[in-house]
Amino acid sequence: MTTGAGLRVDHAVTSGTFSLDGQTFDVDNNVWVVGDDESCVVIDAPHSVDGILEAVADRRVTAIVCTHAHDDHVRVAVALRDAVTAPILLHPAERPLWELTHPDFLWDVDLSDGLAVAVAGSSLTVLHTPGHSPGSVCLLASDLGCVFTGDTLFQGGPGATGRSFSDGDLIVESIRSRLLALPDETVVHTGHGDDTTIGAERAALG
Ligand SMILES: [Zn+2]
Repeated sequence: MTTGAGLRVDHAVTSGTFSLDGQTFDVDNNVWVVGDDESCVVIDAPHSVDGILEAVADRRVTAIVCTHAHDDHVRVAVALRDAVTAPILLHPAERPLWELTHPDFLWDVDLSDGLAVAVAGSSLTVLHTPGHSPGSVCLLASDLGCVFTGDTLFQGGPGATGRSFSDGDLIVESIRSRLLALPDETVVHTGHGDDTTIGAERAALG
């Protein structure tokens, strides 16, 4: 039985495309793997099962948590589920977006605000942060002093809200009420690009 003492974050970047509203863009996506030497949780499933499994190494995957259902975050979720036999977790408000990529499959477990996702003797707490998309979530790892923000908060500000299913006022409200409530030193692991901190983004948001 582990206690969360050996908990760590591993990281990979996979490359592919993001498509919505009839446009397609090249994108690099972060994959975050939280766990100890035995088991882990994968956060987001973009582009490449092999790329994700390199970060997993030989550990048991206990959950595939999707921060939201844009295709660049869920494209290989079903293939990864088949490869590692772990459930896919997603907020149910993402269903319209999910079905654009996976019309023939559903995810396994609904995420909801406050839910604790078990990981290697610790847990990730779900923060429902709508705006980038209706069911966007952030995952707070209190034991590690970090939060995984998907496309809700990047280094330099809020995620994009110019496309379908997005709401610019709502993302700012989500960031202010849920993320800026965290301590300044909290490390922010984003869905694309570099890390930041809550303190740095609080200052930038003014
Ligand atoms: Zn997105």
